[in-house]
Order: sequence, then C-alpha cells, then structure tokens
Amino acid sequence: MRVGVPKETAPGEERVALVPDVVARLDGITVVVERGAGVAAGFTDDAYADAGATIVDDAWSGVDVVVKVAKPATAEIERLQEGQLLIAFLQPLTDREGVGRLAARGVTGFAMESIPRITRAQAMDALSSQATVSGYKAALIAADRLPRFFPMLTTAAGTIAPAKALVVGAGVAGLQAIATARRLGAVVSGFDVRPAVREQIQSLGAAWLDLGVVGEETEGGYARELTADEQRRQQEALEERVPEFDVVITTAAIPGRAAPRLIPASAVAKMRRGSVIVDLAADTGGNCELTQPGEVVEVHGVTVVGTLNLPSTMPFHASQLYARNVAALLAHLAPKGDLALDWDDEITAGACVTREGVAA
Ligand code: NAD
Repeated sequence: MRVGVPKETAPGEERVALVPDVVARLDGITVVVERGAGVAAGFTDDAYADAGATIVDDAWSGVDVVVKVAKPATAEIERLQEGQLLIAFLQPLTDREGVGRLAARGVTGFAMESIPRITRAQAMDALSSQATVSGYKAALIAADRLPRFFPMLTTAAGTIAPAKALVVGAGVAGLQAIATARRLGAVVSGFDVRPAVREQIQSLGAAWLDLGVVGEETEGGYARELTADEQRRQQEALEERVPEFDVVITTAAIPGRAAPRLIPASAVAKMRRGSVIVDLAADTGGNCELTQPGEVVEVHGVTVVGTLNLPSTMPFHASQLYARNVAALLAHLAPKGDLALDWDDEITAGACVTREGVAA
C-alpha cells in the first residue's frame, strides 16, 4: 500500500500528517512525502528519506491513501482520484458541502473527528491528542499575557499572591489547561456541565466552581446542549463569579454546534484590569461574547485571546501525536499494509464519512 503525505496548504497550518519516526515504523507501507511537507513542523526531507520515505513533488497521485491534517481545499479535492482513501480532519458535522464533494469524487473519506471515543480506539483519538496541545498552550498564553505572576512568591521585596485561574469546560483541553496552570503555580478552579468531571478536576488539585448548573452527558461522553433557560442561568452565575479570577480559560464545546456563549460582555466589564481570557472555542465562534476569532483584543482593560488553531502553534509535538493517531488508524484499516476494510467494525464504519459516492 502506498500512502501520500502532501504539504498542508490551509493558512497558518504548520502541522504535517506523518513524521519521520512514525514513517519508519509503518509496517508494509510505502510512504511518499511532498517536498518540504514537514519543514514548518521541524521535520526535514532528509529525515523522511532516512526513515524510508520517498520525497516527491506530488503526493496525491499514484497512492492508495492520502493522509492530511486539515480537510482538503476545493482544488485539492480535484487532485484526488476515485477509489482513493483520504484521512484528515474532514469536519463532517460542519462542512457538509466539502464532504459532499469528496463523495462525488468517489473518495473513501475517514474523518479523524468521527473515530468513536472508545477504549479500543484511544490510540487513534486525534481530537484528544490535539486538545492536549491546545489546553497546555492556553495556560502558557494566559501566563504570558498576564501582568502578574502565576505562582505565589516570597521575596525580599515582599510576598506576591498567586494568580487565580478559572477553566470553564473540562474535557481533554480543559483538564490539560488546569494541570498546566497548576504546575505554573496558579490557584485553579474548574467547571463543566457534565457532573462526572467534578472528580477529575479535583484530582488535579483544582477546586470545583459550583455554578448550580448541571447538564447531562450523552452516550458518546459529550455534553448535551443546555436549554435556553439553563444557558441564561449559567451566564448569570458566571457573571457573578468571573470577576474573582485573573485568568479565565474557556474550552466549552458541543460537537457540530457553535460554541456555547458562556461569558457575556457584561461579565468581562466586571473583571479586574489586566485580567486575561483565553478562548479555546474561538474556532467555533467563541465562549466569550467579546472574542474575535483569530485576534487578541483588549476590552475594558481585559485581554481576550481568540487565537485560532492552537495545536499548529506547537507543530512539532502536535504533528508527532497526530502522526501516531494516523498510524494507529492505518494499522487498523490495513493490518500489515494490506487494506482490509471491515464495514461491520465500529471504528472503520464510525470514522468513514464518504463511501461509494455517498456521504454518511
Ligand atoms: P469537547 O471538546 O467536546 O468539549 C469540551 C468540554 O466542554 C466538555 O467537557 C463539555 O462537557 C464541556 N461543555 C459543553 N458545554 C458546556 C457549558 N455550557 N459549560 C461548561 N462546559 C461545557 O470535549 P472533549 O474534550 O472532546 O471530551 C468529551 C468527552 O469525551 C469527555 O467525556 C472525555 O472524557 C471523553 N473522552 C473519551 C475518550 C475515550 O474513552 N477514548 C477519549 C477522549 C475523550
């Protein structure tokens, strides 16, 4: 089986779908890598060649499988051939048009987002691996932007009180943000609408912020969208509590939906000057009313960070983790390099979003 790794073309995308270490370990698979595909992430063509890959000018043709990070642009879809497999973040819940185009092209598309969150598929879980990067980076950005220390310091010039950080939404990214902010010495609180998360927050040494809003967990482990009334109560409760914090990191998400609006402008207006909000939901519209996706803005003296695609800002490790996820999926779809698609298998069927001209 031949696998092609094209260079990513989406603006600001620095990651690459396979890295040399992982290429070297792919059993029975020939890998062709587009010239320069890994450079932005720190992987040279020579490193790929040493790992056994062939460097080419076109990684789309003559391959059975194309592996990418971001969904292909329209012009890239034209380069795919009928019967080829495509593995990437295809955004199946929010980009129906793109998925439709892939189906029309006769491509068998596997969306990394659609891999079931089951124990057997953990090694393929790219949502988790990339969320880990985002959560870590969010805490670092907050520490960098804050005009205060995170840790408590006792110095000859007196004692500095630690920063107080709140993390709203404690899935994979939120828990990593909590752990990182704690390691930096902040006093951290966390909140999530899924009640099961309370224990996970506390096990990281953070406090549970009780907002009196309790949601439910769906079968897939995700949060159910709150009703309008629950949302209003959550906003009111947050408006009251948010001004206590120097840093607020928001990560709340409902798959396939716009990010829930949690922090109204009126809550930001009550925060201390110099406080920082890092909105990890900026990619889907933002959890804070004042977030400008892709921008860092200052409102009422509060910095609101809406930087997009945080995993791409740490492309080396983000790519390394993503590549391991892709390799695990390849090994699942093609044990020993021979494609054997079992449509009765939960992972194969769950991850497939286009097949035989039809969009799932
Ligand atoms: P996500 O990115 O979809 O959402 C982030 C968090 O936002 C979630 O914890 C969600 O509960 C929370 N949220 C949604 N609406 C909110 C609101 N109004 N206020 C506050 N918080 C809100 O979540 P994720 O990080 O992808 O994780 C989703 C679930 O999948 C978790 O239960 C996680 O433990 C589970 N998971 C399972 C596996 C596995 O078993 N293989 C792997 C990874 C994750």
